Amino acid sequence: MVPPMTAPHHPSQSAGYSLDEITAALKSHFGFSSFRAHQEEIVSAILAGRDVFAALPTGGGKSLCYQLPALLTRGLTVVVSPLISLMKDQVDAARENGIAASFLNSTLEPEEIHRIWRELSKGSIRLLYVAPERLSHPRFRADLASLDVTLFAVDEAHCISEWGHEFRPDYRALGSLRDDFPGVPIAAFTATATRQVQDDVIRQLRLADPVAVRGSFDRAEIYYAVEPKDRVDRQILSFVERHRGEPGIVYRASRASVEKTAAFLSGRGLRAVAYHAGLEPEDRRTRQDTFVLDEVEIVVATIAFGMGIDKSNVRWIVHGDLPRSVEAYYQETGRAARDGEPADTVMFFGPGDIQKIRYHIDRMESDEERERAEGRLREVLRYADSGVCRRKLLLAHFDEEYPGDCGNCDVCTGVVEREDLSVAAQKILSAAHRTGQRFGGHHLADIVTGAATDRILELGHNDLPTFGVGRDRDKKWWLGLLRDLEGAGCLARADGPKSGFRITARGRNVLRGQESFSAARRAAPPAAGRDADAIHDTRLADEERLFECLRSLRLRLARERGLPPYVVFSDKSLRSIARNRPTDEAALLRCHGVGERKLEQYGELFLSLVTHYLDGGGCAES
Ligand code: ADP
Ligand code: ZN
Repeated sequence: MVPPMTAPHHPSQSAGYSLDEITAALKSHFGFSSFRAHQEEIVSAILAGRDVFAALPTGGGKSLCYQLPALLTRGLTVVVSPLISLMKDQVDAARENGIAASFLNSTLEPEEIHRIWRELSKGSIRLLYVAPERLSHPRFRADLASLDVTLFAVDEAHCISEWGHEFRPDYRALGSLRDDFPGVPIAAFTATATRQVQDDVIRQLRLADPVAVRGSFDRAEIYYAVEPKDRVDRQILSFVERHRGEPGIVYRASRASVEKTAAFLSGRGLRAVAYHAGLEPEDRRTRQDTFVLDEVEIVVATIAFGMGIDKSNVRWIVHGDLPRSVEAYYQETGRAARDGEPADTVMFFGPGDIQKIRYHIDRMESDEERERAEGRLREVLRYADSGVCRRKLLLAHFDEEYPGDCGNCDVCTGVVEREDLSVAAQKILSAAHRTGQRFGGHHLADIVTGAATDRILELGHNDLPTFGVGRDRDKKWWLGLLRDLEGAGCLARADGPKSGFRITARGRNVLRGQESFSAARRAAPPAAGRDADAIHDTRLADEERLFECLRSLRLRLARERGLPPYVVFSDKSLRSIARNRPTDEAALLRCHGVGERKLEQYGELFLSLVTHYLDGGGCAES
């Protein structure tokens, strides 16, 4: 169904494409046999010359939504992309699919820029990637206006909104595109937008009666878990060891902890690099490349890392500290599994994290900013501390209701068991209450366990009715409970980490029996990788060997061409080849992600590798 054309309509575009033509282009250029959710709707809207707002999750396939129309129509599609570091990869990927794409940015030499302008004026480039600041130069706009621009595709469009968590002032200039290019449709894409941000983006970009599409933000292939933080480097190590050989990211809150964790992992023989904003840009770029090119498996990073990463085979994400917000957490975990294959994530979290975030909040200048930060902290704590399905809570943040339980998080799979600890909580809260809410954990635990320390005797705390009421558990157990109570917001430290505990409003409810208190008790450590069983199956083990062999070929080809491996073929394509074992071109074309262009480029090499393997020759690549 073609929507009514009330929005700006460019003469050189028309909606006259049949679904057959569109799907044929999807297969021949991208090698996909069907659209992902909402892609078809967006492509049709763009082909009909409509403005579009599309919020699709990371990995939802946004780039195809403007690349496919660019292939089918005449004229130039200008893609606004915030990160220069990302542009080359995006252009490489588009070219691999046979699309005439280029980028203009400050990394190019003047001669190169001239060459690109010559091609642009000849009309031989279909997709041009530029950064928002370039697009704000009047000179650049004037030059652009002399070309046949048929669409502006604004990537990471949430950056235009101050309500979003990644506001970028240079995006503001995009608001005047409508003035300078009247009649050229604008399509805005984002992977992270609440309704509030969506409305703001539409207003700022002045989209006219846009086709607004919201995909489900559910990332069904991602497993979510939260574990109490104990000795975090060791916990990270044991997680990473279960994922040996698979690429992943460890997020830490500070540069110092990034360096420390990276050194720790490297010291255990793992290939890990550190990444944070304190490094020279050149150095950062090299480190990022080693990860993108599969030369190291692990990046330990602050939040400075990620937005420029388009790597589709990230298999796991670890958060070594409590993230700043649910939104940021969802973005960061969302960098895994862009290829749709399963990925594993875990967040380690302890009361120390809350103190650190509070410390920053307390130093914020404006009341408004402080309040927003408090709200974000409350939300992320509710997530970390909850006994309900993690996915439900994450999606609720995007105003999306998830029906039932997901079956793919630690709560749904029963890794986390919750225990009602209301009575024990009342005992220790009472001890805090009766001693004037100024003592720390050790003293309170000594009171309930009935330890007659000098201090207790001196203060007469052995006469309290709560003295010794918790002898059935040891001091360590009570210290753990205090941590949980603090994590759940029942207790708070009045002045910094070393000060005594104060009872919060929620804590008072628990003390009076008006609210129950339960905490996570870990049953057993998570099973060693969710596909451990599969590996024992010999047929699958064989498929795994072929997959590894295909990966080696891919890595060699990628290195020869200076491309990231996933641009040659995604993990999902290699899986599909390993499973289907094609020995002729027709069979290879049926595999996921193999189009005519890829067939022409790589078909022979991959087919002969599979044939050699099936003939019992083993892996020709090793
Ligand atoms: P986003 O920009 O939304 O995060 P991308 O455009 O990078 O996502 O696409 C993510 C991955 O999904 C890419 O590897 C892409 O090739 C793949 N993809 C896109 N559309 C389809 C489709 N219709 N079928 C299968 N895979 C697809
Ligand atoms: Zn769940």
